[in-house]
Amino acid sequence: RVLVGTKVDENHANWTTAYNMLTGIRVSVSRTNAKLDRPLTDADFETKQKSTFDIAGNELVPSAKYDFKFKDYAPWVFRHLRALFRLDPADYLMSLTGKYILSELGSPGKSGSFFYFSRDYKYIIKTIHHGEHKFLRKILKDYYEHVTENPNTLLSQFYGLHRVKMPYGKKIHFVVMNNLFPPHRDIHTTFDLKGSTVGRDYREEELEKNPRATLKDLNWLRRKRHLELGIQKKQLFLQQLERDVRLLQKLKIMDYSLLIGIHDLRKGNEENLRDKTLQVFNPGGDSPSEEDPNSVLMRTPSKLENARKARELREMIKAERPVPVGQTSSKMPDELAEGHTRGGMFYSDDGGLRATHEDNTAGEEVYYLGVIDCLTHYGMIKKIEHFWKGLSSDRSQISALPPDEYGERFIKFMSGITMSPEEAAREERDREAA
Ligand code: ATP
Ligand code: CA
Ligand code: CA
Repeated sequence: RVLVGTKVDENHANWTTAYNMLTGIRVSVSRTNAKLDRPLTDADFETKQKSTFDIAGNELVPSAKYDFKFKDYAPWVFRHLRALFRLDPADYLMSLTGKYILSELGSPGKSGSFFYFSRDYKYIIKTIHHGEHKFLRKILKDYYEHVTENPNTLLSQFYGLHRVKMPYGKKIHFVVMNNLFPPHRDIHTTFDLKGSTVGRDYREEELEKNPRATLKDLNWLRRKRHLELGIQKKQLFLQQLERDVRLLQKLKIMDYSLLIGIHDLRKGNEENLRDKTLQVFNPGGDSPSEEDPNSVLMRTPSKLENARKARELREMIKAERPVPVGQTSSKMPDELAEGHTRGGMFYSDDGGLRATHEDNTAGEEVYYLGVIDCLTHYGMIKKIEHFWKGLSSDRSQISALPPDEYGERFIKFMSGITMSPEEAAREERDREAA
């Protein structure tokens, strides 16, 4: 599900939606960015900014290919969040809307959310349910304060919350967030861990058909995996994880997971799946065939050319002019090509975390990890699920546990998996001795 993207072209059912999402982001985010920065007020957390797009356009909103309405929620809060996460304002818009390229992740899971990657693979757009949307707005202040106090947070980094509505269409809410996985490295194995074992197994037989499938808790345990962070980083990691989980518990959130992507340095980038993932989504004049998505990524443009294009784009954004589709460079400015600039110590080894053995020597793996899917409130639905599942399985093992227990189980599991192989062996020996 993570790595196989679907081409979103004019024949794609979600083409118009994707176009409208990007157009809305481009216009509303540049509108906010163009203003002089100022401190946040309480009212900023409640704000919604509405724009109506049509083919004609007006003095406030440039013309668009389709009629639609767009809402930008708490634009000032997200501007500040992007700054806290050290995103360059112009780069952000460039990544998402410099050229309208998106790829859609395979068929949506049981939650029904859709996922789209920005063309440079840095950002993910996730459509969310109305309930999750309302909930994010409700907790935004707590989240903001947490991120301010915890620059190394492992929680999903939210960069924007928006809504599109097409005439006669339903409202689509979505967030923009960090892609935990790097644009420049293959992820050889992916785990989505919750600390639960019930139903947390990916059938290993299926791996042959789908080698990049997301594995789960039982697969991790069966493979006797270790997240080797070395003594110091391990401590910092568990400390941060605990602080993050305390917030989630306080906000009565559950069902989140630790997503871990593992790049094996011994394997390197033999098959660069990223190239298969990124597909051209092209609403403008030039046809997708002119622009091979692989070459867009692989080409190394001259520095001068890049600098000029980046400057031009910044000027346009400053001037609040729409970036003409098809006129922007198909090449990426250096800032974009040069990997991640995201903040946070757990993303500092080339966007990830280099494995470290107990004796402090470097391991052969790079981990890309974070806590994802953290907008599920322990509400009515989960209570019902808990009741039904609780009848048939061991209560502490099911995933729909109340938030306090969920968090404790989560932390316990993560302390377990960060044990070094040596530590695990010592513990085993002690147990046998006792
Ligand atoms: P469900 O509620 O059924 O678990 P969901 O639609 O809420 O599904 P998530 O759990 O948020 O989806 O994510 C599903 C998968 O998408 C993850 O297991 C992971 O493979 C990928 N994914 C989600 N968020 C990210 C991210 N920030 N970076 C990289 N991959 C991600
Ligand atoms: Ca999930
Ligand atoms: Ca979910």
